Amino acid sequence: MPRIETRGRLAPTPSGWLHLGNARSFLLAWLWARKAGGRVIMRVEDIDLGRVKEGLRDQALEDIAWLGLDWDDGPHAGDPPGEFDQSMRFALYRRQLDKLISMGKAYPCVCSRKDVEEASSAPHGDDGPIYPGTCRGKYRTALEAEEKTGVKPCWRYALNPGEHAFHDEIKGDVRVAGATLGDFVLWRRDALPSYQLACAVDDGVMGVTQVLRGDDLILSTVRQLALYRDFGLTPPQKWAHVPLMKAPDGRRLAKRDGDLSLKALREKGVRPQRVVGLCAYSCGVIAAPRDIAAANLVETFDIHGLKDRPMPSP
Ligand SMILES: [Zn+2]
Repeated sequence: MPRIETRGRLAPTPSGWLHLGNARSFLLAWLWARKAGGRVIMRVEDIDLGRVKEGLRDQALEDIAWLGLDWDDGPHAGDPPGEFDQSMRFALYRRQLDKLISMGKAYPCVCSRKDVEEASSAPHGDDGPIYPGTCRGKYRTALEAEEKTGVKPCWRYALNPGEHAFHDEIKGDVRVAGATLGDFVLWRRDALPSYQLACAVDDGVMGVTQVLRGDDLILSTVRQLALYRDFGLTPPQKWAHVPLMKAPDGRRLAKRDGDLSLKALREKGVRPQRVVGLCAYSCGVIAAPRDIAAANLVETFDIHGLKDRPMPSP
């Protein structure tokens, strides 16, 4: 059997300026793939059309290249949107949804967020209140759901309530009962694919073999792994969920920390080697903060040697 080539991916969401936390995740994902001699895919996660802002895609692509991270497939700043921009892939996502519908794995749901909150006695999960399955098996088609209720439905995935498990390179074995996640949204009522659907389709179709991302998405991996099986796609073999970066004062870094955006740092004259050095230090890739090029970190990179330190002030 031919050896499967390692394929990692960088997947920026152009709904805000990239900040140091994003830079750190991209750096780690890139180092992990390059260390294995693998390819790097650039994918723009711009499905949430209402939140994507003009110019942010090219800014993100420019910022990532400025950090010294390169990629083998996908767009560069200034390129027209194409096959690596999720907003151009809706027909593919829709076909995969239709597949799940025909398999009986997806069903229309007319519940509002308020309905779900009121119906759910369980504590909130990672993605808001846990959906109690109110509409499961109630309507055969979206049209029937809409005619009976006057509400445009979303589509939910009928998740197996039993145990789901996968191995994470950083967290070890992760085991979660599907019942604690609930049936999640595949297709929104405003006719947009959900993050879970688009991400699983793309990682599968693009042949991604390893995913590194923030540990706020660890339960998304459980959901997405269920989807690959039904899509008939090979899931990534390796997963690594890294802690979210903490700001210099120990808080979790957020998009509102505008002064920690790569754009603001660049405008202040901070060099990319400085940003790379701070990111590398903050996750234990280097022992002390110093300026260094991303390419010079590849050789010694070890996914199992990461630490979580607050980001020093740039
Ligand atoms: Zn419902």
